Amino acid sequence: MPVYYEEPIELVTGQGSRVTDSNGKTYLDFFGGVLTNSLGYDLPEVREAVERQLRTGIVHTSTLYLIRQQVELAEKIAKLSGIPDARVFFTNSGTEANEAALQVATNHRGSNSILAVRNSYHGRTAATIAVTGNRSWSASAYSPYNVSYLHSGDRLRGLLRGMSDERYLEAAEEDLREVLATTTAGPVAALIAEPIQGVGGFTHGPDKLMSVWQRVLDEHGILLISDEVQTGWGRTGEHFWGYQAHGVTPDLLTFAKGIGNGFALAGVVGRAEVLEAVQGISFSTFGGNPIATAAGNAVVDYILSHDLQANAARTGAILLEGLRAVDNPIVAEVRGKGLMIGIELTSAAATAAVFESCKRDGLLVGKGGLYGTVIRMGPPLNLSEADAREGLEILTNVLREHGSASG
Ligand code: PMP
Repeated sequence: MPVYYEEPIELVTGQGSRVTDSNGKTYLDFFGGVLTNSLGYDLPEVREAVERQLRTGIVHTSTLYLIRQQVELAEKIAKLSGIPDARVFFTNSGTEANEAALQVATNHRGSNSILAVRNSYHGRTAATIAVTGNRSWSASAYSPYNVSYLHSGDRLRGLLRGMSDERYLEAAEEDLREVLATTTAGPVAALIAEPIQGVGGFTHGPDKLMSVWQRVLDEHGILLISDEVQTGWGRTGEHFWGYQAHGVTPDLLTFAKGIGNGFALAGVVGRAEVLEAVQGISFSTFGGNPIATAAGNAVVDYILSHDLQANAARTGAILLEGLRAVDNPIVAEVRGKGLMIGIELTSAAATAAVFESCKRDGLLVGKGGLYGTVIRMGPPLNLSEADAREGLEILTNVLREHGSASG
């Protein structure tokens, strides 16, 4: 199993936006929010909700019995999803959620052709690897689906380099029409896309891209699946879901990662007629278990009652503006929305060096992108302004150190 850092770290305790390793060193965690812990570590509201459930004596019963926590959370998510007549199916991982979304979409449409986006990441099962457009994550040679890829949002290199938003949207429409006309034999079931590519390095096309796509998809009855595993729950600051920046309503959306604040909680939301296309899709032994859904209810309630979408916008702006003010030869681009921020550096070596130095100075960040050139940040949604400024200072000092060393 690959692990981060030349000297891997073992995290043993956490509090707020900080974690402490087995050597007693404490780090500000600017990555765990988007990955696993939307609300950071040891939030009393989440801990108490889980403890209350544990005290009932029921860690889990089969999902064949009614689970109050699950029903309550499903109702909240259905309402929040923006999808009319929405149903929710809980799973244990984002992979399974996307697997279920692809399965119902293909069955609903009677087609095993799927459109996906280059440089995407959707999971590690046969179907979700098949729609993952990044060879380093999707090297399986066999695919259950017939997949065609659209261009990704990368405008730093390749065919789309330097394109204006307007031109990009035109090019995206041409690309989709051409793919439909040339690479698929029969009807297409669905397009699956991340509003902002997570593993891909927080790259994204212009707002409205999904609406350009959906206009064409609608001509053919093709479904739109929005993978909100990284972009959901207010993380982008401007909207609750990533898809909303595009002025569309997807047919299906998937969620996972931080929403259980460390407990395995994920799912797919979709219009009833689509989600019910496969009989038996509603069963999972552990999906939506009472512990995970107790945590999920506490997380969703906390996000809404503390307006953490606004906090993501506020603290994200501190980071984005601070990073954009850095004039440094190793920084190619600072991008993102809210608390989903990527710094594209000029080389993979510089990225690896910045990544290690951040750790040395007590800041955990992520690394990624198709070429290993992106520092990724997804702090908890309840990040304080003081913590945002502290992390920004560590990062700008590290960038300065490596920028001047290289130039
Ligand atoms: N979709 C996206 C956008 C993701 O980032 C990930 C995880 N990196 C997944 C799906 C898969 O989620 P999981 O690891 O929970 O299976």
